[in-house]
Amino acid sequence: MSKKGKMFWNVICIKALEKLKVASIPIGGCVVLVMSLVLFSPKTLSTRLTILYTNDFHGRYIPIEVAPGSATSQTGDPGGRAISFDRTGKIGGFAYLSTLVQERQAHGPLLLVHGGDTFSDDLLGNLTRGEVVIQLMNALGYDFMALGNHDFDYGLERTQQLQALADFPMRAANILVEATGQPVLGAPVKVMEIADLKVGLLALGYHNTPLTTSRELIRGLSFTSGIEAARPYVQVLRQRADLVIVVSHQGMAVDQVLARQVPGIDVIIGGHSHDWIAPPHQIGGTYLVQALSDGTLVGELVLESEEGHEPQVEAHNYPLWNDKIAADPALVDLIKKWRQLHRPYLEAVIATAIERIDRQYKSQSPFDTLVGDILREETGAEIALLPGVGYGVSLTPGPITREQLYTLLPHPVRMVRAKLIGRQILDILEQSAINLNPRHPLELVGGLIQTSGMSWTVDLDRPRGQRIQNVRIGEASLEPMRSYSVVTHTGMLEGLHRYEAIGQGTEIHRYDRLVVDIVEAWMGRQGQVKAPPGGQIRLISKDRGSAK
Ligand SMILES: [Zn+2]
Repeated sequence: MSKKGKMFWNVICIKALEKLKVASIPIGGCVVLVMSLVLFSPKTLSTRLTILYTNDFHGRYIPIEVAPGSATSQTGDPGGRAISFDRTGKIGGFAYLSTLVQERQAHGPLLLVHGGDTFSDDLLGNLTRGEVVIQLMNALGYDFMALGNHDFDYGLERTQQLQALADFPMRAANILVEATGQPVLGAPVKVMEIADLKVGLLALGYHNTPLTTSRELIRGLSFTSGIEAARPYVQVLRQRADLVIVVSHQGMAVDQVLARQVPGIDVIIGGHSHDWIAPPHQIGGTYLVQALSDGTLVGELVLESEEGHEPQVEAHNYPLWNDKIAADPALVDLIKKWRQLHRPYLEAVIATAIERIDRQYKSQSPFDTLVGDILREETGAEIALLPGVGYGVSLTPGPITREQLYTLLPHPVRMVRAKLIGRQILDILEQSAINLNPRHPLELVGGLIQTSGMSWTVDLDRPRGQRIQNVRIGEASLEPMRSYSVVTHTGMLEGLHRYEAIGQGTEIHRYDRLVVDIVEAWMGRQGQVKAPPGGQIRLISKDRGSAK
């Protein structure tokens, strides 16, 4: 690259980095920057390739409504920056995504990839057992997908059937069939000849999937380190391809380790942590990108090279604001067809929200506090314990439809009551702090545990075992040896997010009622619902200040 070119890149990059210093990044317009990438072997061709990427649809194929102060869910790693939309509006949806893909396609050869957590966490997604999103991705012409932890939500057999329906490979080098030792669903690599280039793609899944899903669903599979799994494949791809792209569902923190430890990767297109990485993060010769979640944002890298010159890459981000981009009529029709049969069931109004009820991931979540309150009311338990989860769409003021509620409670977990002693409750809270700030990024799993009927402080910067303080159950301090009645659900009982102490409780009673049905019935009885008063969980972390 010429000296002038390099300076130009630096100037733009610094400007973009300055923007990153603010605590909250508005997801507004389109970020453009130019970067240099020593992508491929010395031969430089005259070519242009557009790479579009998405991740973590979580079943979101229709637009969602967002507002300032709330992302699709609170995202990013603890200590990382909060991501917030800078305006209220409808965003996302496959009809709008399709228009964007076509528009970008008009500029030349295009590669379209997805970073996993694809088809579940949605009511129509569940009714079609994932098929609706796969068919819509076929319609858009996706080329490649990494398997996320939620891509086994209907069991391995269903994932295999969905792969048969998909026109693109759904793969992961680090998810192995125990019986054969081979990657699930086939070779985790694809080499495409596109725009006169050989593009090598490698898919990586989430090593901690067993901690985020029911064992039943992933029976016969083993989940290993994506970093170790990537090494041999990257070496081979490096020899066979001009450009090596890893599509990874490991989360930003682990992708950074991957970039440091496995040389030879040009770009890591991430997922799982729902980060919006703009401008691309650079580690050595590797660029890391990710495009938030729920199909709200599309990331783009445009690689251009001219004979005799070093290749240049431009990075763009396109938020799919519905008032800024037209819907593709063909996709509108296709979506209508899929919804037709189930429309009355999906659109049934459960209750009215008189204010926003947010789902948060790594701080106290008003929606989950409400669910905890409801479960306590149903059982008379002193406290409720629920996992911190990053999917779902916050409820906006107005009618709450069944499918809106369902995005927040999509998994078939049932209510459970148990007795735990104070010590065990403390262990569970401590485990949540470890999940958020572990010794190694590979141990990161889940969000902040959500509670009801109690207040507590978590200081992520203190040593293990001393991170939880001021625990009060109701009005009284927690007594380590006293027995408390607890309500939770079957996922937590199975040890989700390493909350093993729940399974060690006594007088465990499993109800035959799904948590989502209990919440739907309760909301129906209320007619009007609002966010419960917050402030019971105080989170301290030096990187993010103190947040309630
Ligand atoms: Zn995930």
